[in-house]
Amino acid sequence: MAINSNSPHQIVVLGTGGTIAGRASQAGDNIGYTAGEVGVAQLLELLPGGAALLAEQVAQVDSKDMGFALWQQLAQRCAHWLAQPEVQGIVITHGTDTLEETAYFLQAVLCPAKPVVLACAMRPATALVPDGPQNLLDAVAVASMPGARGVVAVCAGRIHSALDVQKVHSYQVDAFASGDAGLVGVVEEGRVRLQRVWPDYVYEQNWPLAQVECAQAAIKNIVNGTFPASGWPRVEIVLNYAGASGLLVDALVAQGVQGLVVAGTGNGTLHADLQAALLRAVAAGVAVVRATRCVFGRVLATPADVVIDSQGLAPVKARIALMLALLANSASSSIRD
Ligand code: ASP
Repeated sequence: MAINSNSPHQIVVLGTGGTIAGRASQAGDNIGYTAGEVGVAQLLELLPGGAALLAEQVAQVDSKDMGFALWQQLAQRCAHWLAQPEVQGIVITHGTDTLEETAYFLQAVLCPAKPVVLACAMRPATALVPDGPQNLLDAVAVASMPGARGVVAVCAGRIHSALDVQKVHSYQVDAFASGDAGLVGVVEEGRVRLQRVWPDYVYEQNWPLAQVECAQAAIKNIVNGTFPASGWPRVEIVLNYAGASGLLVDALVAQGVQGLVVAGTGNGTLHADLQAALLRAVAAGVAVVRATRCVFGRVLATPADVVIDSQGLAPVKARIALMLALLANSASSSIRD
């Protein structure tokens, strides 16, 4: 679709599916619906001023089914639109289930100087009282704000940074939290009230292993398609719990896993049997990182640590950071070879 060159502050809305685009057979049903059915252009028709926004349907999925190929496609469409001088910002409609992962991935690969705002809903578009239209309207307000930048998520009037956002409720409309970091701000009657500065970070700051140049080369190759998603490193997450053994880790190593994130208990603590298996994995050349399964706080390093920590990243985001770091390392070895 051609850009409206008469509008110097164009907002582009990319549709990917989710409950915000969900359809139920009965209006009173908030859980028995199919996600990703209503087109993004149709969602915008309900909004005041929605017709002036540029809509592009990138996908129509339930975000529980999100994967690397769609992430790559989404990053490419974002990069395309962000490069247009007329575009002020991007809104992405997305399911809530993996929203925090997509937010972190896009921030890591795009580091956008313009706003990229994820909008979602906990109730389908056909609900008696859907939350999607207000969330979408709020997301457009955030994307339109002068000075806004980086990837953020907007839900229930709250703005969360890609680094901090986590889905913390399975049903309520205010389903997200930003942990200890707190909200970026709130949206009230179409106005954004900031509570801290716009998040402006690159993922290398949260990933000590990645050399900046190599990471940038990997990221460029993700966006330009040189690194197809089918070849991205396999990184899995394992969990510590009472009675945890090393069997899963040993099986994953036998399958050729390239990276492992362990969601430890408390301050990243590990059952002795699980830790022994992780150290065997490290000896076999697998990259291992330790996060915490706690929603609040982070792993604080101690001199006794035998497995490096995730620098404050939650397990699902540490998995993405490790995958990108491994991709960066493979880019740097292919540059050296
Ligand atoms: N399963 C849905 C999705 O993530 C849930 C939602 O959007 O709220 O697409």
